[in-house]
Amino acid sequence: MKRIIKNNPPKWFEDWKRNFEHANGRKAAYKKDFPQNEIRKLRGDLLREQGYICCYCMGRLHIDGSHVEHFRPKTRFPDEDMEYGNLLASCQGIAGEPGKDHCGHRKEDWYSARMVSPVNPDIEQMFHYGLDGKVYPSGRDEKRRGAKEMIDHLGLNSYYLVRNREKAIEESGFFDDEYTEDEIRDMIDYYDHMDEGKYVPYCGAIVEAWRSLLG
Ligand SMILES: [Zn+2]
Repeated sequence: MKRIIKNNPPKWFEDWKRNFEHANGRKAAYKKDFPQNEIRKLRGDLLREQGYICCYCMGRLHIDGSHVEHFRPKTRFPDEDMEYGNLLASCQGIAGEPGKDHCGHRKEDWYSARMVSPVNPDIEQMFHYGLDGKVYPSGRDEKRRGAKEMIDHLGLNSYYLVRNREKAIEESGFFDDEYTEDEIRDMIDYYDHMDEGKYVPYCGAIVEAWRSLLG
């Protein structure tokens, strides 16, 4: 998982909430009150913030087909359903389709106190990506248990994701040559940062593969 650095809430979003509250005498609720065109605008801001990858699986996101993900589900935490810090962009996977059932649809209203948000600075240490494309819990104790729950409940080892991660590592040239330490560091630097506002899909798994060459 790639850590997400949240920006300040967009001004238009805070203004919209304030205007709604002023006009209606109550706070807006996401599902009931927030219109589709504004949801699309919000998705655009979240995608830019995340470098156009899914907050859970690091797959490529586009404005169409992406989903505003409430990290703490709106049904269980209604007071946070319009809090920018709780909002992320995720892919939806395909519910019930074997191998593609991951992320948004898979998660639905699942929430565990052990779950750690992709904005948490510890998030990248909680997961280990193998060269086989699989993701494993890393770290210790509660963090390890949390990572395991997330892998299971978000479907992060679904066939589709494992295959894509394996392919992404291969396509980075990892198996093609012997590399010098400088070349390896350049690769890590490239995949660890956004290029023209976008991360390469599955960048976290690619970076970990290249880091393993440094020993
Ligand atoms: Zn995803």
